[in-house]
Amino acid sequence: MIISVRELDLAPVKFNESIVPGVIAWTPNATQVGPLVATGEATLDEMTQEIRFSGHLAVTLQLECDRCLAPIALAVDTPIDLVYEPLPETVPGQELELHAGDIDLGFYEGEGMELTDVLREQVLLDFPSRALCGEECKGLCPVCGVNRNEQGCTCTTTIPDERWAALRNL
Ligand SMILES: [Zn+2]
Ligand SMILES: [Zn+2]
Repeated sequence: MIISVRELDLAPVKFNESIVPGVIAWTPNATQVGPLVATGEATLDEMTQEIRFSGHLAVTLQLECDRCLAPIALAVDTPIDLVYEPLPETVPGQELELHAGDIDLGFYEGEGMELTDVLREQVLLDFPSRALCGEECKGLCPVCGVNRNEQGCTCTTTIPDERWAALRNL
């Protein structure tokens, strides 16, 4: 669903969407489980031409533990509150200058914004910086590959010394 500036110029645009898995491309290790449900509205600030999205969204994603690859369910249930500025016009021959503090701002270009891009951004803000099945996750053994949360192994994680291995084989 495109939220167009032309429409917003007349009135706020309400949305009430249910987006099935497969429509939004998440990160490579995230899979959407069930529909993403989003309700809210987009408004245009006449002075600044900023588009503000507000409302609420809920979606469940499945991530992988960074250490042991176990699936982790991430239930995102969050308010939508994002503001996008029009991309500043660039004068030919002059570089677009972004000022410190502009980094977190979103920009839109042209006729408006695709709603799914906005929802994706809002969900990604909720992603943990490290996905772990638990703080205590022991991860996979780098030698034999067993999941150390499920079973122990007798591997020593120090790299065996090749010279001693050669002697043992004599
Ligand atoms: Zn884990
Ligand atoms: Zn092992």
